[in-house]
Amino acid sequence: MSGEVRVFAQYDHDFDEICDAVVVGSGPGGAVVAHELAAAGKDVVLIEEGPPFAREDFVLDGAMSMARTMREGGLRTTRGTIMPTMQANALGGGSLVNSAICVRAPAFTLDGWCEEFQLRRSTRADLDPHYLAIEDFLGIAPTPDDVQGARNLLFRDGCRALGYSSEPIARNVRGCRGSGECFTGCRSRAKQSTDISYVPAAVRAGARVLTSAQVQRLLPRGSRVGGVAGQIVRPFTGETSHRFRVHAKVVVLAAGCMATPVLLQKSGLTGGSGQVGENLQFHPGVAVMGVFPDATHPEFGATQGYQSLEFVEDGFKLETLWAPPGVFAVRLPGLGYELKKNLSLIPRAAIWDAIATCNRSKGRVRARRRGMDPVLDWRLDPKDLQVLAEGLWRLTEIFFAAGAERILPGVHRLPEEMRSLDEARVIRAHDFRVTDFTLAGNHVFSTTRMHGDAGAGVVDEDGRCHEIDNLYVADTGILPRSPSVNPMLTLMALAHRIALGIAARL
Ligand SMILES: Cc1cc2nc3c(=O)[nH]c(=O)nc-3n(C[C@H](O)[C@H](O)[C@H](O)COP(=O)(O)OP(=O)(O)OC[C@H]3O[C@@H](n4cnc5c(N)ncnc54)[C@H](O)[C@@H]3O)c2cc1C
Ligand code: SF4
Repeated sequence: MSGEVRVFAQYDHDFDEICDAVVVGSGPGGAVVAHELAAAGKDVVLIEEGPPFAREDFVLDGAMSMARTMREGGLRTTRGTIMPTMQANALGGGSLVNSAICVRAPAFTLDGWCEEFQLRRSTRADLDPHYLAIEDFLGIAPTPDDVQGARNLLFRDGCRALGYSSEPIARNVRGCRGSGECFTGCRSRAKQSTDISYVPAAVRAGARVLTSAQVQRLLPRGSRVGGVAGQIVRPFTGETSHRFRVHAKVVVLAAGCMATPVLLQKSGLTGGSGQVGENLQFHPGVAVMGVFPDATHPEFGATQGYQSLEFVEDGFKLETLWAPPGVFAVRLPGLGYELKKNLSLIPRAAIWDAIATCNRSKGRVRARRRGMDPVLDWRLDPKDLQVLAEGLWRLTEIFFAAGAERILPGVHRLPEEMRSLDEARVIRAHDFRVTDFTLAGNHVFSTTRMHGDAGAGVVDEDGRCHEIDNLYVADTGILPRSPSVNPMLTLMALAHRIALGIAARL
């Protein structure tokens, strides 16, 4: 049996659908659940607010791409500590625009989750079979040297010179040609984003996919939920039109860590725990640019090809990074001519970043009275600031060990450039303030966290809401706190487990 993918132009009236399970959101969490349920013979409807993107829809201009693929044009920010955070609005969710980094969470992190959040089946050994299932399906493998490019290999060389561990990043790609375009969409379609992997597999197994369909509330059915209701939205304008309802035995929310709590709040389903939308956590990153004596041709190479897990137990992970230069301009010093001069260094540059666990820094997601966009409050804890500062220092060390002639740290109140490790030692003595860093936080967690205690969390280890037994959550909101590394693979492993559990119960 084969399903279908409906697009905006195909909707011409209000409609109702009936199915076994409705899944909201086609990102890494929702797409895995939709596929596994359809493959188990369940009648599945997958609903996605964004449109599908084809290779000819991807534009290399960073700002234009963000305006088309991201919520709030990619300019969403937190209040409190102001930090940009990007959530995609597209078939495939974040997997369409992310760097395809796939890392299993370390055992010590998962053990910590189990202990602190009263979980009994979420150790590394428990999750390994689910990690493996996702890795096999997507062909996840370490990035080969021939598509690394100089800016990734220089990171490896710097780590080696200092005796820090480093490794090629494992990614969900097939036939990557190292174009460095993951952020604006993979035009060679090598990246196995869910729109070209799990969603088509779900459709082949019979799932019906509604794109350009915004879920606005859950339908009640006694003490349970009976489905979802929403409106068709025109791509890129958000203009709403026809109404729809999807009636289902089971509802799975995978709309993302920020949209799922908004849906629950707008539906009056915040439960007794008071945890819906609470505990918002990020994995904020700082990036540093290093300039080398010779050309690095940074436009060539896997977007993020090398990483170091040397300091993960200290609270941060180091990675190489690439995005359209316009996106990096915000981190460069100067205006006008000065800025232009610094941008002209990019052909000899590499940009590397540190992402920090920041478990002490928390916030909350609240629904606005109108529309589905959230209000985000979040504050960076001063102790986590010190961890980011340590990440900045380690990146600096690696740059100079790799032969950089200077670094541009992109941090207020520090010198705009530093030409030796000795000069850079001011980083060690600097009294950092939260406002000094130009942070970004695209890894988000915990707003519907799993917890063994129904009074302290929203879902159990099977993703099932403690208080509504046919309602599930399968997005990064369920991670009880940071996975210490990039979250996609861990989310997909959890979604895989959640789907198997639902299939067994349906
Ligand atoms: C630029 C960038 C780079 C990243 N790089 C990496 C990386 O390399 N590795 C990694 O592990 N992580 C990375 N991440 C993070 C990773 O992409 C996310 O953690 C992941 O996509 C989260 O998956 P999700 O299913 O929880 O939510 P999402 O991917 O956000 O998917 C949710 C989906 O639900 C849809 N939706 C939302 N509201 C509604 C509604 N009301 N009705 C219908 N549909 C709705 C959204 O449009 C979206 O498609 C990156 C993120 C960004 C933004
Ligand atoms: S580096 Fe280029 S080819 Fe490789 S996955 Fe990213 S966009 Fe696709």
